[in-house]
Amino acid sequence: MPNSNTSPFEKFVEKIQSFMPGTGRKKHRTYQRREIPRDQHNVSRSAISEPAKKVLHRLNKSGYEAYLVGGGVRDILLGGQPKDFDIATNATPEEVHDLFRNSRLIGRRFRIVHVVFGREIIEVTTFRGNAVEADDDADDDDRRTSEHGLLLRDNVYGSQEEDALRRDFTVNALYYCIRDFTVIDFAGGVEDLKNRQLRLIGDPETRYREDPVRMLRAIRFAGKLGFDIEPGTEEPIRELAPLLTHIPPARLFDEVLKLFSAGYGEATYDLLRKYNLLAPLFPETVRALDNGEPDELIRQALRNTDARIAKGKSVTPYFLFAAMLWPALQAEWRHRQDNGDPVQPALHGAIAKVIGRQVQATSIPKRFSGPMKEIWEMQMRLPRRQGKRAFMAMSHPRFRAAYDFLLVRESAGEIEPGLGQWWTDFQATDERGQERMLSELSAGAPKKRKRKRKPANRS
Ligand code: ATP
Ligand code: MG
Repeated sequence: MPNSNTSPFEKFVEKIQSFMPGTGRKKHRTYQRREIPRDQHNVSRSAISEPAKKVLHRLNKSGYEAYLVGGGVRDILLGGQPKDFDIATNATPEEVHDLFRNSRLIGRRFRIVHVVFGREIIEVTTFRGNAVEADDDADDDDRRTSEHGLLLRDNVYGSQEEDALRRDFTVNALYYCIRDFTVIDFAGGVEDLKNRQLRLIGDPETRYREDPVRMLRAIRFAGKLGFDIEPGTEEPIRELAPLLTHIPPARLFDEVLKLFSAGYGEATYDLLRKYNLLAPLFPETVRALDNGEPDELIRQALRNTDARIAKGKSVTPYFLFAAMLWPALQAEWRHRQDNGDPVQPALHGAIAKVIGRQVQATSIPKRFSGPMKEIWEMQMRLPRRQGKRAFMAMSHPRFRAAYDFLLVRESAGEIEPGLGQWWTDFQATDERGQERMLSELSAGAPKKRKRKRKPANRS
């Protein structure tokens, strides 16, 4: 794509500043392009994946500009391992798609291209300009904001400078050029990276109103990188947090997973609470906690999750959601029993209600909500082990997750210790050991109540 938008950079910056509320009173940074040569930074080609390098080289060879950008550059500069690689280019999505047979055009909020190499996906985006109000010659329809300032469409291509300044944080607006190995900094990101600061580009309130998910991103990066949120960037969050209720539940579901699967779940949870950001994500949970329900189980589950991630293990979204919603479920379950519902129907009613409310905030795809319910229901089954019940529970497809959940409840001090160990031993011993454990259980148990009907075998 030819760079049609080539007004001088200074003029462009001036324009941004005039559009920012409060200019003149507040001191805003001036943005200046800076090039950091290879001998002054630590981004080496060996830290970049082969597929990412391939895409950069092919785009360059075909006459386009192409840069590594975002987390890929940021994390390498920090001496870490990027989770994925994003590339920004002046080629249009169609031009990128034509260059790579292994690519597909994706169009969610805006059109991007995924170039697929086995399990690795390189995300290629075309330079965009949306940091300023629509240019005189831009189609009004292509860059629209709602009455809350929310960016509704985001499809105006721009120059690299514009692309940099429409990004969220300064440390995410660094570009690496594989042609001359320079790092290009438009917004003072290198300086902020050194000072371990997260700073939004432009006027924070405007940028949060455009896209409230940026508040969650601030918390995610602060949790993950251990960065401070710069005061101006931090200040509006508490007040603007409710804007997240305008975000589609499916997008918030994705963000929740990212927030809690980066390996710093407990720190992230604390930050979310501190900035009023947990409520738009888990309204029922926050309500239960405000009413005195403990959050020890959530913390314990997040600690376990963090430990699993540190060991390279995966975490399942249904386990995470089962834990995050547990205080709400407990409160609702108890409430129903207090109103005279028997235990089992009270549980089922509570499950339906809690999930029904939650999906108005974040979606929960069916493939996750089913297992989540099973984890909860199994909590009632795990204490009842006599006869064939222990074996039946163990053959349940969700046994392992439910057992893990039980252990978390125990370490959270929610139930008496013992049951978790029993199940640990029961799984470890042989058939004769299991028979012995069951008969000890019957011997020690109070007189058996007469069973009305056989428990249903759900597996
Ligand atoms: P990571 O991939 O490690 O989570 P990242 O910074 O690469 O972090 P991505 O979600 O992959 O985050 O986005 C890539 C880049 O796109 C970001 O670094 C940022 O420059 C830009 N970006 C992503 N989301 C937004 C947003 N909501 N507003 C502005 N810029 C964004
Ligand atoms: Mg990324």
